[in-house]
Amino acid sequence: MRRASRSALMWPEEASAVQESGRRLTELRSVGPFTAHFIAEWLRAAPEPPVPPPLRHGFITYAQARVVLEAHPEWREAARADHQMHTDETDGSSTIEEMAAAAAEIGRERIAITDHSKTLRITNGMDEARLVAQGEHIAAIKAGGSEIAVLRGIEMDLTPEGAGDMDPERLAELDLVLGAFHSKLRLRDDQSDRYVRGLENPDIQVLAHPRGRIYNFRVGLSCDWQRVARRAAETGTALEIDSYPDRQDLDIERLRIIAAEGAWVSIGTDAHTPSELVFLDIGIAAAILAGVPRDHILNVLSAPELAERVGLIRATKKGHSNEGSTIWQGVSASASTRRRGSRADPASSDVRTEVDSVPTRPAPGAASLRTSGSKPRTPRRKG
Ligand SMILES: [Zn+2]
Repeated sequence: MRRASRSALMWPEEASAVQESGRRLTELRSVGPFTAHFIAEWLRAAPEPPVPPPLRHGFITYAQARVVLEAHPEWREAARADHQMHTDETDGSSTIEEMAAAAAEIGRERIAITDHSKTLRITNGMDEARLVAQGEHIAAIKAGGSEIAVLRGIEMDLTPEGAGDMDPERLAELDLVLGAFHSKLRLRDDQSDRYVRGLENPDIQVLAHPRGRIYNFRVGLSCDWQRVARRAAETGTALEIDSYPDRQDLDIERLRIIAAEGAWVSIGTDAHTPSELVFLDIGIAAAILAGVPRDHILNVLSAPELAERVGLIRATKKGHSNEGSTIWQGVSASASTRRRGSRADPASSDVRTEVDSVPTRPAPGAASLRTSGSKPRTPRRKG
């Protein structure tokens, strides 16, 4: 049942739709006869759904996301690009070519390859030499006439002090640099200072999976999101929507604050297999539902526009440009009128419960999901 509850985030359609079309509920991932019996009962006489605990609060399903996107065709342009994914260079299942082919098949025009950096040994993170070699590989793919644009990126580990672990000169050669916290993710006190330091890191343009939450496993960090969003808008650093079904990080509630403060957003699937690339829809739907303006989504930009913006963020953070700050301030006037009165994130109060009692073992069946290479993986503690 626990496994089905997680898989339900990834079902492509609602259980009710499966039943209405006369098919078996056991077609749905992780639903056996036992669980199917319960679902059928709930569909027959719908019970009042319980309020989800913080560990499961604020997630939408892939089926819901698809419905939202169908109602907003103008947002399809956000689906042209996927700005986070991993390959077999680190902890992904597949090659760059395989990820690119799968992304092209579902209509992407651009992907960023963002494998892990060296500190994250559990993911076989790359050092500078491997990053350079990967760059040569991507250049060869380009020269060979790739169907879609393949950007050189990285998901660089950030210390809680906001420092990266890679040579800035190597990072400057990349098309897009994500920074992400992977340690001390269970601290309960306000982490605003950590976020501000991360956003100010001169070498990153995107702060990936900011909260570090994982469905039913880890509730994630808390902070004053208004303050963090404001600093993101000032530095130009985009906050990510990691669309992986059991991350969804940032979530709709926080994205509303991001939108109000005029910060930019980058959307990525964090896919570790080709089959996970479809979940970009979850991130796009979250942006729509939160009211993030389309012109503040990096994915909507064309490749040259993205390159320009990345250059602007780099220049401004290094203090070489005054031009950038005026561009980013463009929306802050309207944003300030919409600012929330409260300084603290009201959502963070429900986030301070029992994180340490969460079981740390993967869900049953996770190992087989992990190795199949075609199905979503178990919740990750790292990466
Ligand atoms: Zn990560």
